[in-house]
Amino acid sequence: MYVPLLLQDFLKRAVYHYPQKTAVVDGERRFTYAEIGKRVNRLANAFQAYGIGKGDRIAVLSPNRLEMYEAFYAAFLLGAVIVPLNTRLVPADYEYIVNHSGAKMFLIDAELAPLIEPIIGQLQSVERYVSLPVEGFKNHNGWLIYDDIIESASENAVDVEVDERDMATILYTSGTTGRPKGVIQTHRSLYMNAINTIIHVRAEDEDVLLHTLPMFHVNGWGTPFSFTGMGATHVMLRKIDPKHIVHLVQTEGVTVACMAPTVLNMILNEPTSKTASIPQNVRVVIAGSAPPPSFVKAVEKELGWTFLQVYGMTEVSPFVTVGHIKKDIRDTADEERIHRLKAKAGISMINVEARVVNEDGEDVEPNGEEIGEVICRSNSVMDGYWLQPEETARSIVNGWYHTGDMATIDENGYIDIVDRKKDIIISGGENISSIEVEGTLYEHPAVLEAAIIAIPHEKWGEVPHAVCVLRENANVTEEDIIAFCRERMAHFKCPKSVQFVAELPKTASGKIQKVVLREPFWKEAGRKVN
Ligand code: ATP
Ligand code: MG
Repeated sequence: MYVPLLLQDFLKRAVYHYPQKTAVVDGERRFTYAEIGKRVNRLANAFQAYGIGKGDRIAVLSPNRLEMYEAFYAAFLLGAVIVPLNTRLVPADYEYIVNHSGAKMFLIDAELAPLIEPIIGQLQSVERYVSLPVEGFKNHNGWLIYDDIIESASENAVDVEVDERDMATILYTSGTTGRPKGVIQTHRSLYMNAINTIIHVRAEDEDVLLHTLPMFHVNGWGTPFSFTGMGATHVMLRKIDPKHIVHLVQTEGVTVACMAPTVLNMILNEPTSKTASIPQNVRVVIAGSAPPPSFVKAVEKELGWTFLQVYGMTEVSPFVTVGHIKKDIRDTADEERIHRLKAKAGISMINVEARVVNEDGEDVEPNGEEIGEVICRSNSVMDGYWLQPEETARSIVNGWYHTGDMATIDENGYIDIVDRKKDIIISGGENISSIEVEGTLYEHPAVLEAAIIAIPHEKWGEVPHAVCVLRENANVTEEDIIAFCRERMAHFKCPKSVQFVAELPKTASGKIQKVVLREPFWKEAGRKVN
C-alpha cells in the first residue's frame, strides 16, 4: 500500500514514543512532546477556523522561537504551506516576497512588526495577521494574538488528506547572488533530507540541538524535522550572541549545533573560548561554506568540538554532500590531511547523486584538479521555483539540478567547492578561486574576516581585490597584506588592492554578499552587477 512520506509523522512519532521528553526549550518556556502535540493540534484547528486550507500559504516572520516550530507542523497537518521570511530584510523585500507567494495569513514576531507596518496597505493577499507576543511589545491594531487563538481552539486532530507531493514550504533563497527565488519544497523532499540528516549526523533521542541557524534559512537545515523524529530536544536561540551560545551549550547540555563559520568564528574569538571553560558536551558541530583547514583545526583543537562539513542549497532541501571521512582514510591519514578533507564539501549523501561536470556535461577527471560544475539528482531536489518556470527550466536540466557551484572531485569522490560560478575571477585567462585566496588571507594573524572579489581591469579583464575586517588593535597596511599573499600563492592569484572595512555585508545566514561589494567597482566600469 502506498503510504505518503509526511513531515507531521516525525512529530507524531515523538509524541507517541517520547511524550514526557522535553521537546522545545525557549527561554523560560519548556514543553514536552505531549504538550507540543496538543498545542499543534489547537493551532491547526485555529488556522482552519480562519480559512486556511490545503495549498494556502502562511508567511512567517520570526526569529527562532517555539511558535515558529509549532506553525510548521500545524500548517503541515492542513496541507498548508509555510513561507518563512528572512528577518534581516527591508520592508520592500517583504512586500515583494509576501505578494509573490500570495500568502493568506501572516505570522509576525511582535518585535519585528515595525518592518511590516509600513507596507501593510500593499499586501493584497493577506487576510489575517497573527502577532507572536514578545515581552514589552504591544499588539497591533486588529491583529490576532497567537496565544489567544491557540487557547480557544480544540485539541482534536484535524482531518485533512495530505500527499507527499504536496508543497510544505516555499523558501526564498538567501539572495546572495540576486533577487530571492521561491523554492518549492514538498513533504517528500524535506522528509528525504531529514532522513539523510538522521543518518549522517547520527541523530539520537538523547541529543539536544541548539538552533543557532535561523529556521527561516532552508528550515534551519531541516533539523526541526529530523531531530523531532528521533525524539531529541530543541533549544531555541533568538539572537546570535557567542556568550549566550556558550551559556546555553553548558546549561542545556547541547550535543549538536549547526553554525555558519562566521558564528563559530565569533565563539573562537571570545576571550573565554581560550580557556578550559568551553563545555565539552557538544559531540558535533555542523557547518557549511568551505572554511579553510586551519579553521577546522581551530574548532577541533581550541573548542574541542568535532567538525562536520555539509554542502547544500535551498534548492536541494538542502543537503548534497557531507564531509564524512571514510574509514580507510581515517585509519591511515595524518591529522593535517584529515583537517584538509574536513574542509571540503565531502562525498554525496545517501539519496543524492552528485557529479562534477564540464561545459559539455561530461564528468571531469577525478584528480582533484579539473574544475567543473556540481550537478545533482535526488528526491530532495525542489519541485521548482514558485511562479518562475523559466528559471526552473534553466536550473533543472534532464532531471539534474545545476548548482552554479564550481568544484573539483578527487579519486576518493571528495568534492571540493572552488567557487560560485559568479564569484570566480577570470584574470588574463586564468581562473582564480576567491575561496582559495580568502583561505590565505585568513592565515594572516591580523585578518578577522575577508572577501575576495573580481574588479574590472584594463589589461587582465579582472583582478582580485580584497576587502578585509581586521582584528582589534591590528596594525597592517595594504602592502603588508599583498606581500603576505605573494609569499604563499602564485602572484596572479594575489589581491592587487586591499580595502579595510569595519564590517562586511552579510545575508541573514551570515554569508558575505559579494554582489554588494562588487557593485561600486562594476558600476563604474559599466558592467552589470550579479
Ligand atoms: P541565492 O541562490 O539567492 O544567490 P544562496 O545560493 O546563498 O543565495 P543558499 O541556498 O542559502 O542561497 O546557499 C547555497 C549556496 O551556499 C551553495 O550553492 C554554495 O554556493 C554555498 N555553500 C553551501 N554549503 C557550502 C559548503 N559546504 N562549501 C562551500 N559552499 C557552500
Ligand atoms: Mg543559490
